Amino acid sequence: MTAEPLLRVRGLTAGYGEIQAVREVDVEVRAGEIVTVLGGNGAGKTTLLGAVAGLVDVFDGEISLADRPLGGLRPHARARRGLALVQENKRVFRALSVRDNLVVATPRLGRAEFDAREQNVYELFPVLAEKRRDPAGSLSGGQQQMLAIGQALMAGPSVLMLDEPSAGLAPRLVAEVMDRVATIASRGMAVLLVEQAVHQALRVASRVYVLRLGRCSEQEDFRGADKQRLLDHIYLGAA
Ligand code: ATP
Repeated sequence: MTAEPLLRVRGLTAGYGEIQAVREVDVEVRAGEIVTVLGGNGAGKTTLLGAVAGLVDVFDGEISLADRPLGGLRPHARARRGLALVQENKRVFRALSVRDNLVVATPRLGRAEFDAREQNVYELFPVLAEKRRDPAGSLSGGQQQMLAIGQALMAGPSVLMLDEPSAGLAPRLVAEVMDRVATIASRGMAVLLVEQAVHQALRVASRVYVLRLGRCSEQEDFRGADKQRLLDHIYLGAA
């Protein structure tokens, strides 16, 4: 792919107090790509997304969106620039209807724009359209995950970051959520996907990075015969 990256992370070192949870990480995501970050527990995946979103302290390195540096910007300012993050197990407002969950995700949106984005969410996730008047708390876990992604899309982002959207879902639903993520990317969104559901994530990935102990490497051959080598690398530390 030749297009310029929309999201560019260079030499990122970030963490908590004395702890450097990610070190010298380079990641790029272009429009239309699903870039998947794999890694075991504690590898630094959530920290990477948090640093990009402005939620985690950055000690060194640069993060830019469409060639504009994000350093120093608060999370809501980054969101206004076009960055959306769906955190792991993000809670929706259970007492509010599905539609009202979309409403509260988009303050200050004009009516026509709201309607267009709402329709886009319903088209991607028809089950949310069916249940739009139901309380979000009555949705299944998978449907709530879809609603959380829908809320992020209501902001009209150019880069969508997803932290383990498969967490807690049955395998069939994981496949469905991944298919929807693929559709979202095919419409031109840049997607940065953090996952532990390796097989499903590889199925939709354009490119793959593996994080181990905070350090990141891009994997050239992540399909087919090299899958086992990749899994060994993630979980066993093999080269
Ligand atoms: P998981 O899949 O288990 O969520 P992860 O790859 O997302 O793992 P992170 O959550 O980014 O990993 O954690 C990376 C490292 O940073 C771990 O050693 C973790 O203990 C540490 N860490 C995470 N959050 C904090 C925090 N708030 N304060 C201190 N250390 C933290």
